Amino acid sequence: MSDSCIFCKIISNEIQGAVIHRDEQVTAFRDIQPVAPTHILIVPNRHIESVNALEGSDEQLMGHLITTAAKLAKKEGIEQGGYRLIMNTGADGGQTVFHVHLHLIGGQMMKHPMG
Ligand code: AMP
Repeated sequence: MSDSCIFCKIISNEIQGAVIHRDEQVTAFRDIQPVAPTHILIVPNRHIESVNALEGSDEQLMGHLITTAAKLAKKEGIEQGGYRLIMNTGADGGQTVFHVHLHLIGGQMMKHPMG
């Protein structure tokens, strides 16, 4: 847990978030500024700054992050239409919150190009 991290505060219930899933490893909540009808963030419960800080021992955790996203996509009814999973990393990647998070975005046709 990082005292200054907004996502750590949502995970610990210190601040209110629209949490839709919790388990021992990850928490999922709705993005405060959704860019599509479904916009969910799935985050590890442990504070990890970015993909750059991941270690080999985090591979199971990161796999769980993705399979949780797939389950939530099904729950949201967007698995057939499709969706986008994004993990921004660092300044050039557009990362603004430095706690690893996977964006699950869907419910509309995605636009291209991504960059
Ligand atoms: P990124 O730019 O990839 O770091 O994404 C950070 C995301 O966190 C943005 O889409 C923000 O809208 C979202 N966000 C920031 N603060 C909150 C919050 N308190 N609750 C939910 N989502 C948030």
